[in-house]
Amino acid sequence: MKHGVAILGATGSIGKSALDVIERHPERFRVVALTAHSSVAALMALCARFRPDFAVIADPAHERALRDGLAAARLPTQGLGGPAALATAATAPGADTVIAAIVGAAGLVPTLAAARAGRRILLANKEAIVCAGGLLMDAVGVGEAQLLPLDSEHSAIHQCLAGAVGARGGVRRLILTASGGPFRTRADLTDVTPEQACAHPNWVMGRKISVDSATLMNKGLEVIEANWLFGFAPSNIDVVVHPQSVVHSMVEFVDGSVLAQLGTPDMRTPVAYALGFPDRVASGSDTLDFLALGALTFEAPDRERFPCLGLAYDALRAGPAACIWLNAANEVAVDAFLARRLPFLGIAQVIEETLQQAPLQAPRSIDDVLQNDAMARRKAGALIVRSA
Ligand code: NDP
Repeated sequence: MKHGVAILGATGSIGKSALDVIERHPERFRVVALTAHSSVAALMALCARFRPDFAVIADPAHERALRDGLAAARLPTQGLGGPAALATAATAPGADTVIAAIVGAAGLVPTLAAARAGRRILLANKEAIVCAGGLLMDAVGVGEAQLLPLDSEHSAIHQCLAGAVGARGGVRRLILTASGGPFRTRADLTDVTPEQACAHPNWVMGRKISVDSATLMNKGLEVIEANWLFGFAPSNIDVVVHPQSVVHSMVEFVDGSVLAQLGTPDMRTPVAYALGFPDRVASGSDTLDFLALGALTFEAPDRERFPCLGLAYDALRAGPAACIWLNAANEVAVDAFLARRLPFLGIAQVIEETLQQAPLQAPRSIDDVLQNDAMARRKAGALIVRSA
C-alpha cells in the first residue's frame, strides 16, 4: 500500500530533500498535500511535478495567485490559503504521513493537528517541540500518532536506541554532535555578516537554522528536543563538537559501550530512514568513503564564545515556559540579525535578557503557549529597538 505524504514547508531545504527521496520511490509514496508560506511560484512548480490533492499557501495575500495558477495549469490540486489551512493539509484525507518542515513556532499548530489526527509525523520543525514538547507528546499519545525525528542527530540516536523511543534502560547518556558552525575557529565575532553566518561548512540549510548553527543555539534547541523525544534529563544529554559532521550522534550505555551512527552530511539519509521506518529505503546520498575521510575529531563546545548553548540548557532546567521564551526570543533576534538590525553577538544578549522575564508557570494549553510566545516576541522586539 502506498503511503500518502503531506509536506508542511515543502518549498524549504528539508522539503526539497524529502521530495527528492519520495520521487525515488513512486511505488511507496504519493504526495497528498504541500504547503509554503509565500513562495507561490515554487509551490506551483511542485504542484505541477507531484500533482497533490491540496496545496496551501500560509500567507493569505498569495491565495488568489495560487488558486488562479492551479486553475490555469489545469492541475487536480485544490488551493487553500491562510495559516489555518496548514492544519487542513496536516490532516488531509489520504495522508498517513506528515513531514513537519516549517521553520519556527509557526509549525506548531499544524503539527499538533497531525498528532491529534493520529498521523505518522516526521519532525524537522524542532521549534514546535521546543515550544510545546509536553502538549505535542500528549497529543501523540492521545491520537495514537507516531513521532519520528528528521534532525540528523535525533535520527542517529533513534537508530542507536534501535527505534525504542522513550526507552532509557541501560543508557548512561546521549551525546549530540555539533559541527561547531562556520565560526568554530574565528576569534572575533563582532563584525559577522548574515552571509558569513549562513555559509555553513558542511550542510546547506535554510537561513534561520544556519544562523542557529553559527550561534550553537541549534544545538541548544536539539538538547531540548532530545529531552522530549527520548525522555532524558539535561544532565544525561551532552554536546561534543565534531567538525566533520560524519558521526551524527551517539548513545553511551552503562556498560561503557558507545553506539554511533555515521553517514555523509546529507539530510536525505535521515529523511529516508524516517520515511521507510522500519524498512530501509534508498536516499540517493553518497557512500561514506572511509579512506578519504582521514581523521574524525572531537572537541568541547566553547560555551563562552557561544553562550546560546548554555542558555538553552538553562531554559530546559527552568521549565516549559522558559523554553517558549528562549525560542521566541531567538526567532526574533535571528530575524533582526538577518535584516542587519542586530549584530551577531546581540542575538545571545537579547535571548538572555528576554529569558530573565520568563514566567515560571508551565503552559497548560496551546493558547497558553501562543500567549507566552507572543509576550516573549514583544519583549525581545523591544530590546532590539532599544539597542539600535
Ligand atoms: P527553510 O527556510 O529552507 O524552509 C522553511 C519552509 O517553511 C518553507 O517551505 C517556508 O515557505 C515555510 N514557512 C516559513 N515560514 C512559515 C510560516 N510562517 N508559515 C508557514 N510556512 C512557513 O527551512 P529549513 O528547511 O532549513 O528548516 C525547516 C525546519 O527543519 C526548521 O525547523 C529547521 O530547524 C529544521 N531542520 C532543518 C535542517 C536542514 O538541513 N535544513 C536539518 C534539521 C532540522 P516559503 O518558502 O514560502 O518561505
